[in-house]
Amino acid sequence: MNENKEIKDYIDYPADVKKYDTSKLPIRQKFFFTVLLNLASRAALRLTVKKGYKIEKINMEGLKPPYLLLSNHMQFTDFLLKYKATFPHRVHTVATLEGYYKKPWLVEQIGSICKRKFTTDISLIRSCAKVLREYKDVLCIYPEARYTPIGTCSEIPEVIGKLAKKNKVPVVVIIHHGNYLRAPFWDFRRKKAVPLYTTVKQILTAEQVEQMSADEINAKIREEMQYNEYKWQKDNNIRITEDYRAEGLHKVLYQCPHCMTESKMNSKGIHLFCEECGKKWELTELGELKALEGETEFAHIPDWFEWERANVRKEIESGSYSFEDDVRVYTLPGAMKYYYMGDAKVRHNPEEGFVLEGSYNGEPYRVQRSVKSLYSLHVEYDYCHIEPIDCFDISTQHDSFFCYPSKPNVITKLCFATEEMFKIAQEKTRA
Ligand SMILES: [Zn+2]
Repeated sequence: MNENKEIKDYIDYPADVKKYDTSKLPIRQKFFFTVLLNLASRAALRLTVKKGYKIEKINMEGLKPPYLLLSNHMQFTDFLLKYKATFPHRVHTVATLEGYYKKPWLVEQIGSICKRKFTTDISLIRSCAKVLREYKDVLCIYPEARYTPIGTCSEIPEVIGKLAKKNKVPVVVIIHHGNYLRAPFWDFRRKKAVPLYTTVKQILTAEQVEQMSADEINAKIREEMQYNEYKWQKDNNIRITEDYRAEGLHKVLYQCPHCMTESKMNSKGIHLFCEECGKKWELTELGELKALEGETEFAHIPDWFEWERANVRKEIESGSYSFEDDVRVYTLPGAMKYYYMGDAKVRHNPEEGFVLEGSYNGEPYRVQRSVKSLYSLHVEYDYCHIEPIDCFDISTQHDSFFCYPSKPNVITKLCFATEEMFKIAQEKTRA
C-alpha cells in the first residue's frame, strides 16, 4: 500500500454499481395503490394475526390530511395496521433504504421517502414538506427509526417537533401494542399467539402546533409516544404460552446481573441463563423474569435493559469505555444488492465515535461517524437481508456499511454506548 495515498471516506465502486439517490422527491401515491395497500393489509392481518386485532381512534373525528402521523415501531405488522387505520387517506412513509431492497419501484410508487439510518439528510425536509404542503397527504414517520429492542420507546430525535411546527399540521400518534410481544426484534421469525391493540390519537391540532414552541411539541410527542409492552401484557393478563418464548432474549439482556459478566448470557426454551456463573431465570407466561434460585434481580425486563445502559454510561464517564473488533463488512450503495467488502477493523470510543477502516479492490477506505453526529446506532438481530446473524450498520449520506462483529453478542451494548456518548456530549454542550 502506498503510504502517501489519500484514504477515501467512501467506496470507489466500479461504474456498473448502481447507487440510489436518497434525495429524490417522493411521487404522489396513486389512489389505486391506496386501495391496494388497504386490501392487502386487511387480508394479511386476517391471515396472520390468529388472536385478532383492534384499532381504536381517539380525537380523530373529522380530521382530514394533511397531518403528521408518528408511529411506534415493533414489527412489519405495524405497516399493515397503519394502512388499515388511515384508509381512505394516502399515507407517505419515511423509509430506510433497506426497505427498498429489491423492490425500489414499488416502494417509490406508494410515495415513500428514502433515508439512510441515523444520517442527516437536508433533502428529507424538502420531501416531507412536499407531502404535507403540496400533496396534502399523511406523512408517516417512525421516529424511533428501528424496531424496539425491549418493548419500550427508544430515542426520539428533536427534529420531529420542528417538522410539525414548520409545516403547521396536526400531530397524530399511532401506538401499537402486542406486535413486539408477538414477534420481538430478537426472535422475529416465529410469531407467538398475542392479540394486537392499536390506538390512533390526534395529540395536537394545527392551532395548538402553531401556538407551541418546537420544544413543547417535542415534549408532548415524547409523552404520548411512551409505551411499555411488558406492562401492557401484565395489565391485560396476556399469557404467552409458547415454550420457546425466552429464546433470543439474551441478545438484549447481554449482561448477567449476578456475576456482571457481559456477552455470556444465553437462552433456551422458557429460560434465560448465564454461561459464566450458571444463574438461570424463567420467563413467565405473563412476561416477568423469575430466578430459579436466589434473588430475582429484575422481574421487569425493561429494568434489566436500563440497568445495562446505566452500566455502559458509568464506563463512559469513568473513561474505561472503548470497543475494537474485526468485522465482516457488506455495503448497500443502491437498493438492489449488498456488496461484500471483506474484513475491516472497527473501533468505537468517546474521542472518535465510530471509525471503520478497511480496503476494497486494494483501495483503503476510512469511514467515521463522530459522537455528536450519531444519536443512536442501527443494529439488526439475525439480519434478514444478508447473513442471518447480528450486525450493526454505520451509514453515511451515500452508503451503508453493515458490520458483522467477530465478538459475540456485542451490538446491544454498542447501541447503548452510542446513545449515552451522544447524550453526554449534548449535556456538555448545554452546560
Ligand atoms: Zn453470571
